[in-house]
Amino acid sequence: MDSKSKLFERIERLYDVGLIGQAKVLVAGCGSGGSQVALQLAMSGIRNFSLYDNQTLGEENVIRHACGLRYVGWNKTEALLDLLRDRNPEIKAEIHNEDLMETVDLDDRVRDASVVILATDNEPSRFRLNEACVRTGTPFVVGKVFTRGIGGEVFAYRPKEGGCLGCLEMLLERSKFRDKVREIDLVSQEERDAMYGLPVAEIKDSPGLNVDIAFITNFHTRFALDAIARRLPERPRNMEPIPGNYVAWGNRPVHPFDKHFQIEKMSLPPLDACKICQEENGDDV
Ligand SMILES: [Zn+2]
Repeated sequence: MDSKSKLFERIERLYDVGLIGQAKVLVAGCGSGGSQVALQLAMSGIRNFSLYDNQTLGEENVIRHACGLRYVGWNKTEALLDLLRDRNPEIKAEIHNEDLMETVDLDDRVRDASVVILATDNEPSRFRLNEACVRTGTPFVVGKVFTRGIGGEVFAYRPKEGGCLGCLEMLLERSKFRDKVREIDLVSQEERDAMYGLPVAEIKDSPGLNVDIAFITNFHTRFALDAIARRLPERPRNMEPIPGNYVAWGNRPVHPFDKHFQIEKMSLPPLDACKICQEENGDDV
């Protein structure tokens, strides 16, 4: 970085920005979640990104996306890169306007990253990335916002240490955090069309406010910085390791949460019953 740059002057004494900034972050999904996490990471000193998204920014996205009205009609990837460079002109990024479900050499793309920000809006692509990350031993952090922004969850995959998304789903299926709880984008295609197109009363207000999503993207960013720090030869100062790998956050007292600003944490190990983790272990032997 230009030694004369004052960009990170105010956080230089907090941690080694040059060290953290070398990390390469793959952002899978540049929507409301991915864009906010990427912006936070850029403001934390991260300079290398690969941005994946195959959609363009619509006017209806603007109240929840990091990018504003002047980017309507842009590819979300290019809009986001332009925004990131407004914070740090030295940011380098690969742009991929593609559907991650159709990416052929996904393992190689993932292997190249220090951490994957898993912020796609559907389960199949999340699980495809989960498997690629487990196979290649690449950390990822996934964030989800529950219906109407009542809260959400963030999970960090730590290779060789913690469970994967398959393990998490297996565990959560039996918990109150999956009972009658729907993620904003977990509804059927029919409902999604209705949600974004026609005024269907119950579903119309399903997406949360940006303020509610921001609680989740902030946890998401913190876990991503933690994942980057874990891969450095020396732990950066003022960045103590986050002990657990899962956080569920409640914004308000709506099932499954009982109160405002409720937090539930846990540490999830690889589960014996998880085929994805077991396959990977088998390959190692
Ligand atoms: Zn697993």
